[in-house]
This record gives sequence, structure tokens and C-alpha cells, in this order.
Amino acid sequence: MFTRPDRAVDRVFLHCSASDHPNHDNISTMRKWHVEDRGWSDVGYHFFIRKDGTLEEGRPLDRTPAAQGGNNRGTIAICLHGLARENFAEAQYTSLIELCAEITASYQGMVTFHGHCEVSSKACPVFPYKAVLGLDDHGEMVFAKSSRPDGMNPPSESLPTDRTPPRPILRISDRSSDVEILQRLLIDAGNSITSDGIFGQGTAAAVRAFQVSNGLVADAIVGPATWKALQA
Ligand SMILES: [Zn+2]
Repeated sequence: MFTRPDRAVDRVFLHCSASDHPNHDNISTMRKWHVEDRGWSDVGYHFFIRKDGTLEEGRPLDRTPAAQGGNNRGTIAICLHGLARENFAEAQYTSLIELCAEITASYQGMVTFHGHCEVSSKACPVFPYKAVLGLDDHGEMVFAKSSRPDGMNPPSESLPTDRTPPRPILRISDRSSDVEILQRLLIDAGNSITSDGIFGQGTAAAVRAFQVSNGLVADAIVGPATWKALQA
């Protein structure tokens, strides 16, 4: 559970570790890089999210991070392990969404989320953080701001839904006429994808963005809750 530090915070920055090596998938390695290799007093990030979604704590939140040169004051720094965009895991995105929703709730929406790339020439983070978190043009996490004050938990796919016509659960690499129906609904919702009946990366990204903006678990799996929201 996120607890606000004593110092003022109004921005959260997102990073990637720039490594896909399993041996680097932990805060201890990041700390070693920053302390032994760069001579810093501690790891630069406050949080690290492993490929399996585990959230690890780094530098104490009460301390300013060392992560975005010239833009460290008033910020929180979060790093996801990964280098290649396609190798980031759904479990990492789920953890990130939960953490950022908690931060948004804790600051009553008075906090914005940014990529390191917004204040540097680096490509960091390489994952599509705006879509993953459902950020608006200002970097505000829209669904977390507008949703329930009681804990921010998005409705789970397993919650009972009412009697909309049953649709199969769809996930990446599925091919069927139901995928085509899904794609048409996503196109109606404003996505520029093709309705070819193949659930590829483009469809997955559109599903995830739709889930984020509708306060659903952004796992890119189309279950009853996602179907219901799409058909609403
Ligand atoms: Zn970075």
C-alpha cells in the first residue's frame, strides 16, 4: 500500500531497466549498478517491477530520486524491468496500474505521470506507458481519478455480469469470427485497427487501452466484463 512521503510530490516518472536479462530482474542489481558503478548513495528509483509483476521497493520515498537528471525534485521514480517493448509482461502492467492508481488516490488526483523520455533524449521507458496507464494529455491517470474512492480496485473480470449474450473469452493469437466482432466494436470505440479476425498485438493494445479507460483490469484478455463494456 502506497504511503505519501513527507516531501512534496507532483510528478511520477516511469523508466525501464534497459535489460531483458533475468539476472538483472531485481532491485538489488539496480542498486549495484547505481551504487557500485556510479557511486551513488542508493539505487535511484523508488520502485522496481519485475517481469512476474512483483513490486520491489528501492530508495526510500522520503528521499528525492536520482533518475531524471534536472527533474528529480518533487517526483517519484518507478522502473520496470525490460528492454524490448514486446517483452514487457502483462503482470508488470497490472502492478504498475495498481501502484499508479494508489498514488493517484493518495494525492487526490493532483499528480501526473510521465515517461523519462519527456524530459530527456532517451527512449526510456520503451513500453507504451500512456496507453497502459490511460493517461490524458496532461499525464493524468483518467480512470483512477474518475472512479470509486473506495480503494480504486478496478472491477475484476470474474465479477458476475448481467445477461448480455455470452461471448467467448478472447486473448492474443485467437482467430475467429468473434475476434472480428471484437475488432468492429473496438473500431466503433475509436481505434484504428483492421477487423481481420486475428487477435494480434495491435488488437491487444487496443483492448488494453479500452480496458484502462473503462476502469477494467488491463490484461488484454476479453472476458465478460470487457465484452459488457464494449457492448454498452
Ligand atoms: Zn529512465
